[in-house]
Amino acid sequence: MMSGKKWVYLFNEVEQAEKYTGSWDGVRALLGGKGSGLADMTRAGVPVPPGFTVTTEACNAYLAAGQKFPAGMWEQELEALKQTEKQTGKTFGDAKRPLLVSCRSGAKFSMPGMMDTVLNIGMNDAVAQGMAELTGDERFSFDAYRRLVEMFGEVVLGIPDEKFEHPLAEYKAKMGVKSDTELTAADWKAITETFKKVVRENQGFDFPQDPYDQLRLATEAVFKSWNGKRAVDYRNAAGIAHDLGTAVNIVTMVFGNMGWNSGTGVAFTRDPSTGEKKMYGDYLLNAQGEDVVAGIRNTEKIENLGKDLPEAYKEFLEICARLERHYKEMQDVEFTIERGKLWMLQTRNGKRTAKAAVKIAVDMANEDLITKEDAILRVTPENVDTLLHPQFDAKARQKAKDEGRLYATGVNVSPGAAVGQVYFDADTAERMAKEHKQDVIMVRPFTKPDDVHGMLAAKGILTSEGGATSHAAVVARQFGVPCIVGASMVRIDLDMREMKVEDKVVREGEWISVDGTIGEVFLGQIPTSAPSLEEQTDLLTLLKWADDLCATPGIRKAPKGWPTTGLQVWANADYPKDARRARSYGAVGIGLCRTEHMFFEPERLPIVQRMILAENSADRTAALNKLLPSQRSDFEGLFEAMDGYPVIIRLIDPPLHEFLPSEETLLEEVITMRVKGETKGLAQKEKLLASVRSMHESNPMMGLRGVRLSIQMPEIVEMQVRAIFEAAANMTLKKVVVKPEVMIPLTGTVNELRWIQPRLVKIAKKVMEEKKVTFDYKFGTMIEIPRAAVTAAEIAELAEFFSFGTNDLTQMTFGYSRDDAERNFLVTYVEQGILPKNPFQTLDQAGVGRLMDMSVKDGRTTRVTLEVGICGEHGGDPASIEFCHTIGNNYVSCSPFRVPIARLSAAHSALKHKGVSIAEDK
Ligand code: ADP
Ligand code: MG
Ligand code: MG
Repeated sequence: MMSGKKWVYLFNEVEQAEKYTGSWDGVRALLGGKGSGLADMTRAGVPVPPGFTVTTEACNAYLAAGQKFPAGMWEQELEALKQTEKQTGKTFGDAKRPLLVSCRSGAKFSMPGMMDTVLNIGMNDAVAQGMAELTGDERFSFDAYRRLVEMFGEVVLGIPDEKFEHPLAEYKAKMGVKSDTELTAADWKAITETFKKVVRENQGFDFPQDPYDQLRLATEAVFKSWNGKRAVDYRNAAGIAHDLGTAVNIVTMVFGNMGWNSGTGVAFTRDPSTGEKKMYGDYLLNAQGEDVVAGIRNTEKIENLGKDLPEAYKEFLEICARLERHYKEMQDVEFTIERGKLWMLQTRNGKRTAKAAVKIAVDMANEDLITKEDAILRVTPENVDTLLHPQFDAKARQKAKDEGRLYATGVNVSPGAAVGQVYFDADTAERMAKEHKQDVIMVRPFTKPDDVHGMLAAKGILTSEGGATSHAAVVARQFGVPCIVGASMVRIDLDMREMKVEDKVVREGEWISVDGTIGEVFLGQIPTSAPSLEEQTDLLTLLKWADDLCATPGIRKAPKGWPTTGLQVWANADYPKDARRARSYGAVGIGLCRTEHMFFEPERLPIVQRMILAENSADRTAALNKLLPSQRSDFEGLFEAMDGYPVIIRLIDPPLHEFLPSEETLLEEVITMRVKGETKGLAQKEKLLASVRSMHESNPMMGLRGVRLSIQMPEIVEMQVRAIFEAAANMTLKKVVVKPEVMIPLTGTVNELRWIQPRLVKIAKKVMEEKKVTFDYKFGTMIEIPRAAVTAAEIAELAEFFSFGTNDLTQMTFGYSRDDAERNFLVTYVEQGILPKNPFQTLDQAGVGRLMDMSVKDGRTTRVTLEVGICGEHGGDPASIEFCHTIGNNYVSCSPFRVPIARLSAAHSALKHKGVSIAEDK
């Protein structure tokens, strides 16, 4: 035998393929998904029609050589055909005992867009006649022959389908028959002749009578289809490499259309939409090939096959169970039964919904088919995300489409389904939601920070401008509001209070349905179902496994004193109701409670303003004393909700002018009053305006805020700390276990902490003495200024915990102001590849991440027990969570809605880095 490459593998030569490639993944790459599946089934003793695979390497060599078969390939294909003849006892091209084959494409990844399958290769005038005699069924034989001429014509020769369909329809009309089943042997004979004529007329040559020509041309057509436009487009969209190539599978034909003891079908070994452990699929008796999917005849449910063909069905069930055990995955199979004998034609891992993914993973672990760790890894964070958002009923959505109610499409930036009445500004949206209890969809060209109240009140958000990093997208994701942005075909007229797509007008108050998962907007209402976590028992089980895994000591390898369990998941929550939601979603701590929200409550804001405008410390303290009880009761609610778990409360952070009316508003009011000659209250307004002006800063983000403000005006944080500790003490007396942690924001130098922290600790101790209770507490800081990160070793002398405020840390590290960046240039940066991703969504590991890594290491050299967390928006992003695992964080904290996603991501991180020692220099 000539030395040289092996281009062709019989289905029973899978071991050689394994030896050559060295891995199963390699076999899949060499033989394609379909070919490797057929070979693997053959090895397992599953009945597969004999055949062989021409490798992807042959395809690549063919294309590289300018469409020439590589040396030896065709000879090997002919030799493999000989072997197939031996295995079947039939002969290719022989009229007496003809071997017919199918030619099927199959790349490593299942890929629409490549060449369709050609069945019945090997048929010609003589074989069709022989086959008719052999089977005693002339009708069957000529039906098979005309199918070959048609498929070969369309798929291999590229003749448009209608060239075959029209003459067939004409023929049927002429004969007065409606369905194919009424056509006789003579009819199919006549139609075959017509089809052959179609080939001649379109190609200028006859349909190839030589079966070897048919085989060669079909093989070439599969190779060429790898570079077909549809296939290239699909690979671009799906991110599949262009150099993989496709394999060609030549499979002995088996016939499901040889009478009523024959049939064909497709099935999943479990229900792909619910995950239920029961066969799911369809079949047809007396049918061939793709009749089942083509929908020409009404299919039967797979379980009925047990009644029609009990023996074959029994074997089929056994095989399916065996395939599942072998692949340890739900399988999607194709089969054909020829005169009672079952043949398997394909197996692959089945696609499934998020719901099914979770159920199947949990069930298979419970069945001991896979480990719990496998189960955790099989579910993606996106699956969990999908499951927690309300969804449209699939049938109802299709129905709406059929009715022409699909209105617009845009970028699907925040998943979930929302149905509501349209309002075009934040105030109206909020009012309609709160006062009129309407379900509201807020529609804007784009959103800004002062639209947030409307966005939060809305069930869904739609914008006509902006992309995945726009304000609307970011806010919507953070708060779990379904959202579509950049629906550019929608023209919004804010004055007319309506929007238009072509001539379809939607006026304020009319209903639309928004699918943020897919990015589709529908007119009218589509029913949704809101999944609750408590009802999703499989997901709860899986998340429990994830938590248990993360809680295993030693799952993380780390230096002495560092956490050796996985990440904990905490939540950012400002109010007791958020804290309760966070708990119900599985958070085991509050990583960030922003106290200033509490200052904005309508009955408190005037007191806050009085406090800010106070001219002396006594007046200020008086106002603060009025605020103290309400702050205290806020914290009591929080501690109660988080009984036994840590609660990090951040002291006041924003600049004070945020609590005052804006300069423009005041100026306008003052001018109006002057013009109208109103004097009552004018002096007060003018004074307020003067104060606001005096507090003006040209860059407030970098101005008097955070710890700087507390040093300038310690009374506020002194009150806050008193409120925190009084609340904690009160709750302790009520048998609630409290773990308060006081967080000082915006530290840049340890001296700031040296100045403020002891004063606050003193208050904490004093309160505990007054109330005669003790409990554990911590004082710590946010790390959100690069200087703090760089001097972490010093900062940790005072700080007992660090919490990475990665929103600010990202702004300051890049020197970007987030609002400006996202509005002006970030989209371009991402499009141009200057930044790989929006760094406000996925942590910039090389820059910001490096600072974090350094802080943890340096901080823990000073204080090895330093507790480290993250409370920026990144805390809910899977890639950022993994990074936090590798630098040795104790926990990540994110919005309550993302807690389940973060729990799964934390477990994925632990599994991915199992055995890897963290804190090694990267
Ligand atoms: P796809 O990748 O589109 O599923 P396949 O190569 O699996 O294409 O072929 C489509 C259908 O053709 C199969 O489901 C099967 O019913 C039929 N088929 C393919 N090869 C054979 C064969 N050798 N015998 C009988 N039917 C076949
Ligand atoms: Mg197909
Ligand atoms: Mg198939």
